[in-house]
Amino acid sequence: MRGIIVADQNKKVDRRGFVTDGLRVLGAIGLGGAAYALAARRGQGHREVWQIDPDRCVACDQCQTHCVLDVSAVKCVNSFSLCGYCDVCTGYFPTKDYQLDTGAENQLCPTGAITRKYVEQKSGVRFFEYTINPSLCIACGKCVVGCRLMNGSLYLQVSHDRCLHCNECSIATACPAQAFRRVPGESPYLMTMAARAAEEAMAAKRAQKQPHEKKADDA
Ligand code: SF4
Ligand code: SF4
Ligand code: SF4
Repeated sequence: MRGIIVADQNKKVDRRGFVTDGLRVLGAIGLGGAAYALAARRGQGHREVWQIDPDRCVACDQCQTHCVLDVSAVKCVNSFSLCGYCDVCTGYFPTKDYQLDTGAENQLCPTGAITRKYVEQKSGVRFFEYTINPSLCIACGKCVVGCRLMNGSLYLQVSHDRCLHCNECSIATACPAQAFRRVPGESPYLMTMAARAAEEAMAAKRAQKQPHEKKADDA
């Protein structure tokens, strides 16, 4: 509940930024889908692919350790439409004895895969954007667990730029939450229910806007 309040405050603070960023994260996910579609046209595609249902995933460490690749094909993603842009991000800083200092020793992520970037300050509150560098993410799930204390905008997905599409995914076999399932190759990424609701609410708000408001937003 606390996290939802934080998210709403941010939407009031910078709605345009939220919309832009929301589209950007969808674009990033769509890019993977487009790459997959291209591969499919070249005869390298698969009718169905493995994906994680983020509402089932409990963010254990099996995704880090059980992929057949040296570095897991599973990566963390951030749904910007759901993110609270929190100053004290519980997915970025340890919840205990945290310091607002971005030194590696103060970060929850063991590989420094999360970038924290200042966005703005409104009414004395500072807001930050958190982005994941997939080439550094090892799918340990620590940030996912931390973020669930707030909005739950961080979650794990199989990256189809990296996945080998094994017939028997060794992570799926080990997953304690039965979170792995086959999804259509044309739409190979899943959002949490909360992230999807946030995206739909934003899209509905944009659709309701008067033309002059849209012009002001686009300026
Ligand atoms: S899943 Fe682990 S490695 Fe990946 S961004 Fe989160 S904390 Fe870092
Ligand atoms: S299908 Fe294979 S490569 Fe892809 S996530 Fe599972 S084990 Fe890793
Ligand atoms: S093994 Fe299953 S529960 Fe564990 S992090 Fe991966 S998808 Fe989530």
